[in-house]
Amino acid sequence: MNIRVQKTFEALFALEDIREMLRSTLPDGSDQVESREFNEQINRIKNIITDLEAGTGSPNVGKIAGTLPVRSREEEYINIQPIQAAGRLTPEARKALIAYGDGYSACDSCRKPFRLDKISKPPIADFHTDLAQFLNMDTARVVPGARRGFQAVTSSLVEPGDSVVVSSLAHYTEFLAVEAAGGIVKEVPKGLDNIIKPDDVAEKIEAVTKDTGKAPKLVMIDHFDYQFANEHDVRGIAKVAHQYDIPLLYNGAYTVGVMPVNGKKLGADFVIGSGHKSMASPAPSGVLATTDEWADVVFRTTSMVGDLTGRKFGVKEVEMLGCTLMGSTLMAMMASFPAVKERTLHWEDEIRKSNFLMEKLLSIEGSEVLSEYPRKHTLSKVDTTGSFDVVAGTHKRKGFFFSDELSKRGIVGEFAGATRAWKLNTYGLSWEKVRYLGDSLQEIAEKYELKVNRQG
Ligand SMILES: *Cc1c(COP(=O)(O)O)cnc(C)c1O
Repeated sequence: MNIRVQKTFEALFALEDIREMLRSTLPDGSDQVESREFNEQINRIKNIITDLEAGTGSPNVGKIAGTLPVRSREEEYINIQPIQAAGRLTPEARKALIAYGDGYSACDSCRKPFRLDKISKPPIADFHTDLAQFLNMDTARVVPGARRGFQAVTSSLVEPGDSVVVSSLAHYTEFLAVEAAGGIVKEVPKGLDNIIKPDDVAEKIEAVTKDTGKAPKLVMIDHFDYQFANEHDVRGIAKVAHQYDIPLLYNGAYTVGVMPVNGKKLGADFVIGSGHKSMASPAPSGVLATTDEWADVVFRTTSMVGDLTGRKFGVKEVEMLGCTLMGSTLMAMMASFPAVKERTLHWEDEIRKSNFLMEKLLSIEGSEVLSEYPRKHTLSKVDTTGSFDVVAGTHKRKGFFFSDELSKRGIVGEFAGATRAWKLNTYGLSWEKVRYLGDSLQEIAEKYELKVNRQG
């Protein structure tokens, strides 16, 4: 590990040990932190800081609790891992994690009616209002991941045996959310271009209705799917669903938090986002937003009464199981939110970087982009069967030669060993890093005598 990264973690951890000393004192100060112990720790930190400044010293960070290695992937590498890019925390989120790490830390000022989304200190209630506004929907809740958002919707709308129309590029969590509710998924075929068309959705709704005698209860569509990150015409599909009086769930796992999403304009009845995928938030986090029409259904409150005690918990929402993201997960999500809102305004630049890298890849003869091209997203599926995989064919490390070459250049996150179809995500990388990435791909290609068409 890079020594400055080492020393940064060492300093952070050493400060946490000071913090623990402060936590162990009496509130009236009569039981001061033992000064010898305190001074020793301060000296330790000073030495770490001296090393940090000079970039010297020996690595001492070790494992957390003897088992957890320090994760320095984002500090030391360019990470192109497809699902990790837009979930990378902001510095504000990391600070919130430190400050609110204790269990129910969000609940210090929880007052009647005792519900997470009503807490005003810290401003959790306002955050909920802001989230709904950000997505142009009426009401929003935070949920532990997009999948729990799907589940809240299917569990509210779908009865055993009901059909739910999904895309044939749908994420597995959509399948599971339907299954958990006892429903059955019905997939809309994708076109040859790997894009789901509104007409095919209409046809599927007709076919399901005819075959089962019942219209589907819900249509779920991924704006950008996880396989190709191709864009699907959600607005057109919402129109179709509404013609059949079926609500539309907009799966924004790859959009909410990276590009502007206007739920009502798209015709979505439910907008779902993933905090850890696209909102620079810790896992598990996400958002479920809906309209006034559906709020009372998905956010219905409990009507259960204890048979012995007669207890009722009036305002608790059944699908949320009362409260959802307590503590640092939510606080970090809130801490990232101003930056997340801002960054959605720069999506076009992210797309330019994505296309820039694809051009570099395509300059290596035999390489292809399997996703729609030019790219409209930062996640892309590429095929290097005709380039890097040819090298892998005769290399003693097989496909691993490619990951070796990348990691030698400080690039990680591609599926190790894969040289045919693989995915990468450029979200949030600076132009400098994207250029470096492009140059590295060309360099590796030339090293193994693949033809590279360098222009200009
Ligand atoms: C990642 C992903 C999900 C799951 O999101 P979680 O927040 O991890 O539950 C759902 N759908 C799509 C399209 C995804 O890419």
